Amino acid sequence: MKIVHEPDLAGLSTLKMGGRAAAAFYPEQKTDLEDLARSWNRWGDRILFMGRGSNILFTEDNRDLVLVRWQEARDPFILERGEQKSVIRVDGGCPLPRLVGWCAKTGLSGLEALAGIPGSVGGAVAMNAGSHQVEICRLVTGLKIWTPENGILTLSEGDFSHGYRYFSPDTEVDEFLIMSVEIRLFPDSPARVFERTKNYYLQKKKNQPVLAATAGCVFKNPDRGAPAGKLLDLAGYRGRRKGGVCFSEKHANFLVNMGRGTCVQALELIQEAGNNVQRIFGISLDMEILVV
Ligand SMILES: Cc1cc2nc3c(=O)[nH]c(=O)nc-3n(C[C@H](O)[C@H](O)[C@H](O)COP(=O)(O)OP(=O)(O)OC[C@H]3O[C@@H](n4cnc5c(N)ncnc54)[C@H](O)[C@@H]3O)c2cc1C
Repeated sequence: MKIVHEPDLAGLSTLKMGGRAAAAFYPEQKTDLEDLARSWNRWGDRILFMGRGSNILFTEDNRDLVLVRWQEARDPFILERGEQKSVIRVDGGCPLPRLVGWCAKTGLSGLEALAGIPGSVGGAVAMNAGSHQVEICRLVTGLKIWTPENGILTLSEGDFSHGYRYFSPDTEVDEFLIMSVEIRLFPDSPARVFERTKNYYLQKKKNQPVLAATAGCVFKNPDRGAPAGKLLDLAGYRGRRKGGVCFSEKHANFLVNMGRGTCVQALELIQEAGNNVQRIFGISLDMEILVV
């Protein structure tokens, strides 16, 4: 198993900021996870399972942190092929854009709206990533997860819960690593799936800073009423800067690192924006990005 000592967190997150962690483990197979379980007493309380780091704001103060990034990322494959629906299996380490591209080539519909989300499949399920009313967990029919206490567990539909940017196995587990996921998809012509995927991607590129150093939406949308981006926009945060970070001109809920941004600047700007939304609209916004 590859182990990197004192990895630079800026290189492990799409927001490109943060200090150094203690170590990063890159397990590729079951035996690597068994090795990790054996050393759990040493590392356990400092471990974070992570994917592509596209929803994390790392701070400077992480000298104790141990990252575990599941590497297995073979091509997805079809488990059950039907005229009305098919079921595929995909590794948790597979980049979501690769899965979305594979679906277009293979002629399987369902995930087109997730085009442009840069996470891993495991991270997408852990966050129940979604766009244009499509949430990945609604299509998940089963999963394999690993926990340090119980090893590998197989979950079927009904063994896990999900909601807006929320996923949890129903069995009581503290930490879990998503190893692989089974997803229900719908046969269609590759050309049509490709066309829809392309259109969703172009729409996303027009409305969000997909090519900038960002970690997606900072705040979750409130249960009802205007989305967080609209509230931030009305509160004057579209394009608002602090040092080397800003809220995007394209989408007021996306924080962008303009090059030399620091996590202190990022956290100050986020806190100020949240406080002002609360003051002006009486709405308390919950964070979507994970601050570590
Ligand atoms: C440009 C841009 C656009 C985005 N657009 C969207 C969007 O439209 N919709 C949306 O929902 N999100 C969006 N995001 C946010 C982000 O890409 C998603 O939340 C993504 O699913 C996170 O995946 P990740 O692998 O990067 O997870 P990470 O950021 O590495 O981790 C996020 C969380 O998932 C957990 N996790 C990650 N992998 C695993 C695993 N294998 N097992 C268990 N837990 C795991 C981590 O512990 C952490 O809590 C966007 C981000 C960017 C940068």
